[in-house]
Amino acid sequence: MSERSYPCEFCDTDQPQEQKLVTVTRQRQGQWFIFENVLAWVCPNCGHRYFDAETLEAMEERMKARPEDARQVEAWAMSLP
Ligand SMILES: [Zn+2]
Repeated sequence: MSERSYPCEFCDTDQPQEQKLVTVTRQRQGQWFIFENVLAWVCPNCGHRYFDAETLEAMEERMKARPEDARQVEAWAMSLP
């Protein structure tokens, strides 16, 4: 299955969402997590990303403990303006 038939709730397009691998940034208790190669449903019109419940649960689960298989990255954080 590579398409989801129900419309985007943000832009109401009738174009089907496309399955893509994306990078997701999440925060838990002040700690940032970057997930790579996450399967998402992406609206071709507005770009909104949807995730299956099991994908969200898997990310939640991985954020509970310091991941042994993760690599540390340096990041810049700032607020606007
Ligand atoms: Zn949309």
